[in-house]
Amino acid sequence: MSHHPAPAAYRRQPDPAEGAAHAGDGAARGSKDVDGRRRNLDYPPAPEPLPVPVMDNHTHLDFRDGLVSVSVKDALDAAEAVGIQGAVQVGCDLASSRFTVEALDLDRRLLGAVALHPNEAPELAAAGELEEALAEIEVLAAHPRVRAIGETGLDYFRTPAEGVERQQYSFRRHLDIARRLGLTVQIHDRDAHDDVVRVLREEASPERVVFHCFSGDAELARLCNANGWFMSFAGTLTFKNAANLREALAVADPELVLVETDAPFLTPHPYRGRPNASYMVPYTVRAMAELAGADLAELGARIAANTERAYGNWS
Ligand SMILES: [Zn+2]
Repeated sequence: MSHHPAPAAYRRQPDPAEGAAHAGDGAARGSKDVDGRRRNLDYPPAPEPLPVPVMDNHTHLDFRDGLVSVSVKDALDAAEAVGIQGAVQVGCDLASSRFTVEALDLDRRLLGAVALHPNEAPELAAAGELEEALAEIEVLAAHPRVRAIGETGLDYFRTPAEGVERQQYSFRRHLDIARRLGLTVQIHDRDAHDDVVRVLREEASPERVVFHCFSGDAELARLCNANGWFMSFAGTLTFKNAANLREALAVADPELVLVETDAPFLTPHPYRGRPNASYMVPYTVRAMAELAGADLAELGARIAANTERAYGNWS
């Protein structure tokens, strides 16, 4: 385990009211989350830098977690310092998709993805606002550094039947936008593997498909191999109960493997439950190298090349 502190921009400023004795002692103290759960809201220590830089192909810089607010530049500086040379900033609704396009003009280390999340689409449809929202997504997607439509897909975790139908409709519309604009698709697939695969096949899927936060087993990984679909592994790969993901990684075509954070969610072991950020990617890449018995530098070079095949060039 690393003994480096969190990057400076992610460290909490000591609260003068708490007295000097507690400065920097947030980890021991713990904190209350917004919904009242008690968890440690301090950002984890920075990992050892990677020998070969890679990209975090799925992050949400506009989602706040923890107790500090971090600028786009500071987030990307902290990532770059440990060998994460770029990221894909992902929109999930109109507000975050607008944020994404603005962020692309602020920092060349970002590429973007814009979409209406499968949990967002049914609500917009129920309000009669889905078509208008899709039209704006298409306008935002015209930005030259938006390289993907996502995250879109299906999420059956807590979705009633009428929501499922609306999700599938919205997913098909997103696939159509991606096809017409020649963009990659970033798939959000939660408890919906079979229908995601079926819709992708029925819709003559876009050229480049990424299963973001890959959550399938070896069987889905073989399907991805056969279709040339990218599999992006997140911190979930390192979770103790994730044997199915490790089996999937073992059979995944190495040319189709990507890495991501989905920050601020899905913080890798042993920091699960704390806030996540792009600078945490090396923990997951090291876990991947260990599982595959691969050389860390070779794996990094391969992930970087795969990521540019998925999204195009960063420069
Ligand atoms: Zn996400």
